[in-house]
Amino acid sequence: MIKDKVVVITGASSGIGAETAKLLASRGAKVVLGARRKEKLEKLTDEIRNQGGQSIYQVTDVVKPEDSKNLVQLAKKTFGGIDVMFLNAGLMPSSPLSALKTNERNQIVDVNLKGVLNGIAAALPFFKAQRSGHFIATSSVAGLKAYPDNAVYGATKWAVRELMEVLRMESAQEGSHIRTATIYPAAIKTELLNTITDEASAQELKKTYDTYEITPDRIAKVVEFAIDMPEDTNVSELTVGPTIQPW
Ligand code: NDP
Repeated sequence: MIKDKVVVITGASSGIGAETAKLLASRGAKVVLGARRKEKLEKLTDEIRNQGGQSIYQVTDVVKPEDSKNLVQLAKKTFGGIDVMFLNAGLMPSSPLSALKTNERNQIVDVNLKGVLNGIAAALPFFKAQRSGHFIATSSVAGLKAYPDNAVYGATKWAVRELMEVLRMESAQEGSHIRTATIYPAAIKTELLNTITDEASAQELKKTYDTYEITPDRIAKVVEFAIDMPEDTNVSELTVGPTIQPW
């Protein structure tokens, strides 16, 4: 059941996170939005409230452990708890390893991997204490197979898969009733390509996306599906992409 669930969403200012926030709020969830761009979060919160939904936001950089903790605290303070943590913030500055874009690589690891760890650390104590909760993470088809130009991005997305699966197993062993779901999207029309600085990679990926991309509301529906399952049922992994894309 989605109604009245408190759902924290990182990377909520655009793309998959923003669409998921709108859909879940329209189903009666109380959504708590985190990302770095304040004006986008503010606009989305207003939009959700104008549609009769419940939403609040806080500027959040998932690289900073305190920011994730504060976002979870905001959920508790405003809505009295937290039921779902959607670990969705991410970026994809693609380039070949030989381009040696060291700063970008560090940033990918910081946001896509350490950011997820920070989100888990922020919500897990509450989930354990209340003996329920749901972690949902946006991995990628790049977390399932290798793609040239995306070695570091793919490495973080493989790592997210591992984290979520072990979290599921440990939670079952510990009896904490925590669910986990990992989503592997293919080409989705969002702002994701904007972070690419390598010209050749940018052009190649733009071509792929222009050919195949589908809209992020599709991923929102998958998140909705995972949450909507009865509490005794864990939907672990979902791969979602354009029918015409060979991936
Ligand atoms: P967008 O670029 O539209 O969204 C990315 C979101 O992450 C934004 O809200 C951005 O907000 C946020 N973000 C980036 N860095 C940080 C940070 N340090 N702290 C907090 N938030 C941050 O792209 P998508 O919607 O596509 O991306 C969402 C997830 O989906 C990502 O994890 C991505 O890897 C994954 N994905 C996307 C695919 C696609 O084809 N689009 C395919 C497979 C996976 P802000 O800049 O305001 O901080």
